[in-house]
Amino acid sequence: MSAQIIDGVALSRNLRQEMTGRVAGLAATKRPPGLAVILVGEDPASQVYVRNKVRACEEVGIHSVMERHPADISQEQLCARIALLNEDRSIDGILVQLPLPRHIDAQAVVESIAPTKDVDGLQIHSAGALMTGSAGFKPCTPYGVMKMLEHVGVTLKGSRAVVIGRSNTVGKPMALLLLQQNATVTICHSGTPDIAAHTRQADIVVVAVGRRDTLTASMVKPGAVVIDVGINRREDGKLCGDVDFAGVSEIASWITPVPGGVGPMTITMLLANTIESAERTLAAGSKPGAL
Ligand code: NAP
Repeated sequence: MSAQIIDGVALSRNLRQEMTGRVAGLAATKRPPGLAVILVGEDPASQVYVRNKVRACEEVGIHSVMERHPADISQEQLCARIALLNEDRSIDGILVQLPLPRHIDAQAVVESIAPTKDVDGLQIHSAGALMTGSAGFKPCTPYGVMKMLEHVGVTLKGSRAVVIGRSNTVGKPMALLLLQQNATVTICHSGTPDIAAHTRQADIVVVAVGRRDTLTASMVKPGAVVIDVGINRREDGKLCGDVDFAGVSEIASWITPVPGGVGPMTITMLLANTIESAERTLAAGSKPGAL
C-alpha cells in the first residue's frame, strides 16, 4: 500500500481563502480581526514562527501587531504589556511565542492574557473548556489535526486512536479532541513500555514527541491514518518529523508529511481562532477582556 498524503499546505490554502471572505466582511461592516504576537529574545526558530504567523495574518487581512522584547524583560513588564493589549479594542487575540527565557514563568504570562483573547488555547480556562466540552479556544495544533482528519473523511466514531506524547499543548488536547469525536483513545509517553503494542492496534496514530523515527513501519497497522506532529532537524539541516515517512507510507492509508503537513495547519487554526474571537466580540458588542 502507498499512503495518500494529507497536504497541509493545500488544505490551509483553501481554508485561508474562505477566511479572507469572512475577514473582508468584518472589515467592511465593523473592523478587521486583530492579533498581537509577542516575541521575547532572539531565538531563531521563534523568529521564523512569529514571522510566518504575521505573514499569514496579512494574507487573509487580519490586522496584526508584532511586539519584540529583549530577552531580559521582566515578567512584570511583559504582563504589563499584555494588560494593555487586553484592553485594546482592535485586538482579538494575543499570542506569546514560547519558549520564554527561563527567568519568566511562561504559564503565568499566558494566564495574564484575557480569556477572551487566548487564541492559542493554552490557558487553564481553555484547557478546562476542552475537558468539559464547553465553548472555548482549542489549541491550534490539535485543532489543525482534527481539521485534516475531517478533510479526508476519516471516521473517528468507533475508531481506535493512539496519541504518542502528552504535552499540554499537543498530546493531551489531541487526545481530548479525538475522545470528543468518540474515538477510543490511548495516550503513550516516555514511560509506556511497549508503544508498538498499542500503535499496531490503532486506526489512527498521532505522533507528537520531537524525536525522529519514533514511529516506524513495523509499528503501524495496514491502512492506519498517521499524523506526524513532530519537527526535527536532520544532519543535513532539512526538517523531518517523528515518523519514518518512507517506511510508514508503505503501510498507512493516509499520512502527513513534514514539512507541509501539520505545521501550516497550526498557523491556519490560529487565524481561525482569531477570526472566531473577533466575530464573538463584535456580535456581542462585548467589552474587550470581559469573560
Ligand atoms: P514536549 O512538550 O517536549 O512533549 C513531548 C512528549 O513526548 C512528552 O509527553 C514526552 O513524554 C513524550 N516522549 C518523549 N520521548 C518519548 C519516547 N521515547 N517515547 C514516547 N513518548 C516520548 O513536546 P510538544 O510541544 O508536545 O511537541 C512535540 C513535537 O511536536 C516537537 O517536535 C515539536 O517541535 C512539534 N510541534 C509541532 C507543531 C506543529 O505545528 N507542527 C506544533 C507544536 C509542536 P513525557 O511526558 O513522559 O516526558
